[in-house]
Amino acid sequence: MSKRLLLARSMKTLGILRLMEMYKSRPGILILNHHRIGDSSSTRFDRKLFSATTDEFDVQLKYLKKHFDVVSGGELQDLVSRKTDLKRMYISITFDDGYLDNYTHALPVLLANQCTATFFLIPQYVGTGLIPWWDEIAYLLRNTRKNKISIQLPVPITIELDSDREVAIQKMLQHYKRPDNVRSDELMEELRRETECVLPVVERRFLDWKEAREMNAAGMSIGSHTQTHPILGQITPERQQWELEYSKQVIEENIGSKIYSLAYPVGTPGGFDITTEHLARSLGYSMCFSFYGGVNTPRNMNPANLLRGNTNSAPDLFRTETMFLTKLGRLPH
Ligand SMILES: [Zn+2]
Repeated sequence: MSKRLLLARSMKTLGILRLMEMYKSRPGILILNHHRIGDSSSTRFDRKLFSATTDEFDVQLKYLKKHFDVVSGGELQDLVSRKTDLKRMYISITFDDGYLDNYTHALPVLLANQCTATFFLIPQYVGTGLIPWWDEIAYLLRNTRKNKISIQLPVPITIELDSDREVAIQKMLQHYKRPDNVRSDELMEELRRETECVLPVVERRFLDWKEAREMNAAGMSIGSHTQTHPILGQITPERQQWELEYSKQVIEENIGSKIYSLAYPVGTPGGFDITTEHLARSLGYSMCFSFYGGVNTPRNMNPANLLRGNTNSAPDLFRTETMFLTKLGRLPH
């Protein structure tokens, strides 16, 4: 059992969690991010993207609704722009990438709990069965017959594959995300050659425009996650501008209304930079989201870098982490 899970169980047993739940929250906005909802073991691709099963997601929403105001994308915009005073802790729910399970699994649970969320779509993937780089890396490393691979770009790395393949997948994903990986297409070519693996033909994996419009009509917000999901910090300002501008245009044409929010792909500090932030603001994005944790408070609120964090699927850990973040502004150590 992990140290955090042990702490969560102890806190629950001792009743500390219940005391924290009664204690007043600080003013702020906790923005939670998901990628996929469902059973992680059923995928041949990146399993780490699954943050909850439908049952776990349902438990999370019920818990959040009981203790906080869960706000819509429009309400979040009012809070961020200070049209509404930040008097207490608000919760906002977001989804990156636009996988089909966002429509088939997450949407019904959101609607049943009268919650809304913002979904960040990648127009290039909408309605397709494409396999993006993170899923391809996971597939190639899990299925290769090799017991180790050596990659030269952007710097040499050897990854052992004879023990835990999931660990190897995470190592390769971190390697891909390096800020100096400026020839990412060539790196993927190298990886395909090295693993000697062929990708399977798959059915549609991403929600389509009709489903996105239906979600939007049901109160969900739609935002951009760029046109092709590059790591923006790895590409030129010109290409960054195209990714941000073109995706906004395509989504607006297909959804039929203006969009104003952007989630930076990967969203870690090296995944975007100050150029990205300026570009995004100048192109009309009034809310831009990173993804490396934290709580947005009246003191640190930055519309060009709204902090978001992962959620934990284990219910006790989810409760504990949510309470630490909303009452103390940090996660337990
Ligand atoms: Zn993404």
